[in-house]
Amino acid sequence: MITIDGSEGEGGGQVLRNACALSLVTGEPFTIEKIRAKRDQPGLMRQHLTSIEAACAIGGAQCEGLELGSNRIVFRPGTLTPGDYRFAVGTAGSTALVLQTVLIPLALADKPSHLVIEGGTHAGMAPSFDFIEKCFLPVLERMGPRVSARIKRHGFFPRGGGRIEIEIEPAPLRRMEFTERGAMQGRSGMIVFSSLGANKIPNRIRKAALKALPEWGEEMIAIRDLPADQGPGIALSLEASYANVTEVVSGFGKLGLSAERIGNTAGKRMAGYEASKAFAGPYLQDQLILPMALAGGGTFTTVKISQHTRTAADIISLFTGRRAHFEEAGDKGHCVRIV
Ligand code: ATP
Repeated sequence: MITIDGSEGEGGGQVLRNACALSLVTGEPFTIEKIRAKRDQPGLMRQHLTSIEAACAIGGAQCEGLELGSNRIVFRPGTLTPGDYRFAVGTAGSTALVLQTVLIPLALADKPSHLVIEGGTHAGMAPSFDFIEKCFLPVLERMGPRVSARIKRHGFFPRGGGRIEIEIEPAPLRRMEFTERGAMQGRSGMIVFSSLGANKIPNRIRKAALKALPEWGEEMIAIRDLPADQGPGIALSLEASYANVTEVVSGFGKLGLSAERIGNTAGKRMAGYEASKAFAGPYLQDQLILPMALAGGGTFTTVKISQHTRTAADIISLFTGRRAHFEEAGDKGHCVRIV
């Protein structure tokens, strides 16, 4: 039985999701203690419960301590069963983070799967649907499995109610070297909003983003008004496509956060990525650790190494014995080698 101190490293929900996924693939049971101990609201929250329940459903797993606020669980994997599943987070808990828990085990299964996940699709502190569709999945597909994603309804904070559908065609994961992003192929952006009434917020967000991105033009960022029942909410997505990877930077509306701040923060983040030559941006990096470890190793370059990445590296070594090495990589930032 592997024992994990959930307060170590980044100490958030990512530890749990990666541990569940690795346990399902390797067959190793684990205990995690002090779950999210350093967070304001420690223990399991609704979205973590849904992720672990989803892991139990696809993997025939038994889990002790599975309740709201719990700070310790014992997870025993069973038989992985690909197929049709529906998971609902409730409120705006992230659909992408539930997907993060079950995707890699199902992508390594012996039959295809079809998932419906309901909850938030465009809310803070988690990958947006656009990031999953345009940034993460194309990179994963280059490693072998075929995965397609569709958004049926947007789900914004705090109401949620979004719905995504995922088709997974499994294949063994290949070792890859993702060191070069390749030539620039295009830039685009989208602001989606719903139920904000007649106001200028989308335009103000666009203007602020463009201020930080002098090489971008106004026509590159479209504005789309969604049906009223999907709101209220607003999200910005900026995409820079290169031959080998597309970076997606998101900004989400929140009560008290000005339109200028949303646009400017996202614009600056994209400008930072464009100025570097690294393959992976600040969020893709930690999400690549798990598939690369299960591929038997791999390499990628990235901007500054995040604490999430270091923590993911600790977790893979517990389950697979693989180690991540971090090196300086000149104008490509840092190189992560998993061996
Ligand atoms: P906690 O509340 O304990 O922090 P959590 O489960 O909500 O836990 P984290 O453990 O912080 O969240 O993990 C968040 C995950 O979402 C990470 O994999 C991170 O890369 C990803 N992520 C966060 N923000 C973005 C973003 N803007 N774009 C893409 N991915 C993101």
